[in-house]
Amino acid sequence: MNRTRIVAGNWKMNKSYEEGRDLAKAIAENLQPSETVVVLAPPFIHLRGVAAIAEGVSNLHVAAQNCHQETSGAYTGEISAPMVRSTGAEYVILGHSERRQYFGEDGPLLAKKVKAALAAGLKPIFCCGEPLEIREAGTHVALVVEQLEASVFDLSPEDFAKVVIAYEPVWAIGTGRTASPEQAQDMHKEIRDAIAKKYGRDLAQQTSILYGGSCKASNAPELFSQPDVDGGLIGGASLDAKEFMAIIGSFPA
Ligand code: PEP
Repeated sequence: MNRTRIVAGNWKMNKSYEEGRDLAKAIAENLQPSETVVVLAPPFIHLRGVAAIAEGVSNLHVAAQNCHQETSGAYTGEISAPMVRSTGAEYVILGHSERRQYFGEDGPLLAKKVKAALAAGLKPIFCCGEPLEIREAGTHVALVVEQLEASVFDLSPEDFAKVVIAYEPVWAIGTGRTASPEQAQDMHKEIRDAIAKKYGRDLAQQTSILYGGSCKASNAPELFSQPDVDGGLIGGASLDAKEFMAIIGSFPA
């Protein structure tokens, strides 16, 4: 089964507008045409500028890092899914552990955001993953399946087919501590099995499941060679064009 391979760079709250354009240009200029889908997720203010840079590059796409659940209204400082889509962005990251932890985003709210994104024509990159204490207690699979059930498992099969899943163990995000290839593979398989139980084998086999958590050029080849790992959601290492390009080139031949 040839699933879409995706490498997405989550810039988080980094880069001035000029620095962001420079980074996007460096990637756009060096990206070889291939079947790997590359997604840049800059801060909101960069979206239009980065989308313009990505326009002429067939496998380069743009994502927001969040969106509001309502389409418009009196929500000072917020950005809606249709506004994101109007910039040319095609994806939106939802459910990142930093949004869950620092902004109190929970399963029901994320379910609304996922639906708002899909209604606006955006593809959600839905993040799930357990904190360290849950991993140590051995209940990580149950928690991740609960996160999926709470926010994406009530979608129609047609809508679920547009969702990309990113498994990001919280203990590996920005810590330099990566899940081992075996730990990543085990969880990705559990996620795919849960999708199969809900939506059937075919849809599960078509779903791209990305790994995130201190993924870099040195460990990406081993992670990306696992059968259920379809690419990565990259934080820190996506801020450097050379490192990010090397990660993009890390899939087995
Ligand atoms: C992330 O925040 O999605 C992430 C994976 O970060 P890092 O690669 O820096 O661990």
